[in-house]
Amino acid sequence: MTIDSIKIDSIKNGIVIDHIAAGKAMELYQILGLGKLDCSVAILKNVSSGKLGKKDIIKIDRNLDLDWDIIGYVDPNITVNIIKDGERVEKRQLKLPETIRGVIHCKNPRCITSIEQELPQVFKLTDREKRVYRCLYCETQAGK
Ligand code: ZN
Repeated sequence: MTIDSIKIDSIKNGIVIDHIAAGKAMELYQILGLGKLDCSVAILKNVSSGKLGKKDIIKIDRNLDLDWDIIGYVDPNITVNIIKDGERVEKRQLKLPETIRGVIHCKNPRCITSIEQELPQVFKLTDREKRVYRCLYCETQAGK
């Protein structure tokens, strides 16, 4: 199967998450909770790509609101294509979010969020260059 035949044209209405770093598709799939959807979701791994060498692609056969911040956190190089009636109506370029909530958990056992479980897990971007996030409460660096 060539890349073209599995690209955008095969879905009529939905979302194509493209240029995912190779090997990251499953992480994104889990973080976004795509397994809970009842529409079809296709994961293409290690697709040849001129720019990155290899990439992963996720295709979702329905339009839905995704958490763009989370996608940007997983990989800011990802592009998201919104498909309507077989045509690309929007191409979104992602960026690293300033804040992420409820996705990653603080590893510090003495952190207030470890003790008070009802507190939201909030991380702040502290170094955009190195993509470093720190816990809002105890400043522990988020591990990947
Ligand atoms: Zn913490």
